[in-house]
Amino acid sequence: MSRFLSARFAALEAYVPGEQPQDRSYVKLNTNESPFPPSPEVIAAVSAGEAERLNLYPDPEGRRLRKKLADLYQVGEENVFLSNGSDDILNFAFMAFCDQERPVAFPDISYGFYPVFAQLYNLPATVIPLGEDFTLNPEDYCELRQNIVIANPNAPTGLAISVADIEGIVRSNPDHVVVIDEAYVDFGAESCYPLIRQYDNLLVSMTFSKSRSMAGARLGFALGSAGLIRDLNKIKYSTNPYNLDRLTLAAGEAAVDSDGYYRANCRTIMENRAYTVGELDKLGFSTLPSQANFIFTRCPRMDGGQLYRALKDRGVLVRYWDKPALRDYVRVTIGSREQMDVFLAQVRNILKEEPAHENR
Ligand SMILES: *Cc1c(COP(=O)(O)O)cnc(C)c1O
Repeated sequence: MSRFLSARFAALEAYVPGEQPQDRSYVKLNTNESPFPPSPEVIAAVSAGEAERLNLYPDPEGRRLRKKLADLYQVGEENVFLSNGSDDILNFAFMAFCDQERPVAFPDISYGFYPVFAQLYNLPATVIPLGEDFTLNPEDYCELRQNIVIANPNAPTGLAISVADIEGIVRSNPDHVVVIDEAYVDFGAESCYPLIRQYDNLLVSMTFSKSRSMAGARLGFALGSAGLIRDLNKIKYSTNPYNLDRLTLAAGEAAVDSDGYYRANCRTIMENRAYTVGELDKLGFSTLPSQANFIFTRCPRMDGGQLYRALKDRGVLVRYWDKPALRDYVRVTIGSREQMDVFLAQVRNILKEEPAHENR
């Protein structure tokens, strides 16, 4: 830190993204990207036409893309907010809706960015523990009288709660905003977005990064009441009105047009997930029941850090957290069948070659 950084950021601990190594190629199962390329339509959309217009500013309202998303989700265009990845939505929501009088609550084990935003904006945060089995008890969030952020399915566990449970939380906190982060909803969970018609305090955040193979393009969107969307736009126009570039907007439009392609990919990921969990079961792993494009799994013979390092040495990247409740586990992104077979083969090798690691 230089001597110029504002004192209010002195204690801020920034978010640490998963490794994005550029040195060698790994079977990359550490940041929940899609193993599948964007649809051919998306590739065509960014390759031609739009690239030639990069001298011109993009549409700050992203009207064409908002219209397409509104049609896809059967909501009004005034219910759709676009942003530079869904991290941007979370940032704007924390900025727009939370302050000293309106604190924020989220689970203790969830997306690592929530506590960072709370710290960034110096917010009082209520961190609510999950159960020992990593389940979220919806009752803990009912009548909380605070803003609430919940990832559903949760990260890094992959566990989801029902739309009825979400409705209970939203209904019982009518004067506070409930943000449901549905980054992983397309892999088998049920989205709660239809509830935005009934509840003006529900904001549902989604992303093109995971199910739509566009992590590199940075495109997220939120669905919510017209009032909430106006508030987010106020923040966006006060920070970075052109937060979506032309190529990303064009890619997003083509991606919505290719919805069937992405749905089929999600089905493949879900099949590969069931296959991977089944094979890990045979090796004695315990895996949480995931509704996301990753699994949170525990090796019978070594902790998460050991398994992570052994896999990395063998060219397979997964993610682990050196925190008391999490360190027995690794989080493994579900990739293609070929990638999962490499992962599984290396896990078998590790279990065979490293009996010395036996520490339980
Ligand atoms: C990946 C992820 C996001 C953000 O993704 P973007 O790439 O910024 O759209 C948000 N929430 C959760 C829980 C995630 O895992």
